[in-house]
Amino acid sequence: MKIFKNKKKLNREISDLKKIAFVPTMGALHRGHISLIKKAKKKSNQVLVSIFINPKQFNSKQDYKKYPRKLNEDIKILKKIKINFLYLPTYRDIYMFKPKNKIYLDNFSKILCGKFRPSHFIGVVNVVNRFLEIIKPRFLYLGLKDFQQLSIIKSHVIKNKIKTEIIDCPTIREGNGMAISSRNLKLTKNQLINAGKIYKFIKQNKKLIFYKIYNNKKSEVIEKLIKLGANKIDYIECLNLNTKKICNSPKFRFNIFISYYIGNVRPVSYTHLTLPTKRIV
Ligand code: AMP
Repeated sequence: MKIFKNKKKLNREISDLKKIAFVPTMGALHRGHISLIKKAKKKSNQVLVSIFINPKQFNSKQDYKKYPRKLNEDIKILKKIKINFLYLPTYRDIYMFKPKNKIYLDNFSKILCGKFRPSHFIGVVNVVNRFLEIIKPRFLYLGLKDFQQLSIIKSHVIKNKIKTEIIDCPTIREGNGMAISSRNLKLTKNQLINAGKIYKFIKQNKKLIFYKIYNNKKSEVIEKLIKLGANKIDYIECLNLNTKKICNSPKFRFNIFISYYIGNVRPVSYTHLTLPTKRIV
């Protein structure tokens, strides 16, 4: 595994490669990231992973500072999986050049997480676009766990006619059902148990939750989630995955999207939950 900390050296090594499979991450690697990397390895023998905690996608400095950092362990994991290239850029390496593409921010960025983390998606598209301009990968591996992020990046790639194919990767979950996330490291044992209860409740009551929201009784759902241990619920919505709009008719397929905190006074966790699509009528 070759490690690069600047794009000049990286480019010297990869500029002739035509089949790069790129997996961008913010590190503190777990089974979710590893599943993306393994999928990339099946497709290509030119796998490039990046680790970069992008300050521009955080809404608060505090959150950025607190984000888990485990570089030495990450390097060990990546060596063991045998990827070809690891890119660990500095802030300057990523941001001190003028990108060719214009950032395209799909309207989908205005709802769900976009409402609660105002500059988040523009920060995400900005950094991913820069990575794509530096690396020019043939494939880009992204997790469905961050469905909204994946979808917004796809729109940007299509709009700018970027020649990179995006590969959607399924969500890997903990035994209790919650999606594995680097942020889960910040949860206590009890909080993890509560997150599992919340997952189970939503999964088992998908239809009921839809009808509560549909009949203007979302507060009852929120009350229940708080009883189960959620600290604050940013949103809980039923989304029609085809139109990417809030689902307001029981005729359509939908997924439940929730973002909630678990923790004491200052929320520590931001957890997304996407459930499998199921026709409800
Ligand atoms: P992050 O390091 O959180 O920026 O994630 C890097 C990539 O891994 C993103 O495309 C995520 O959607 C994906 N990812 C993170 N957690 C999971 C998971 N539990 N299952 C599948 N993909 C994941």
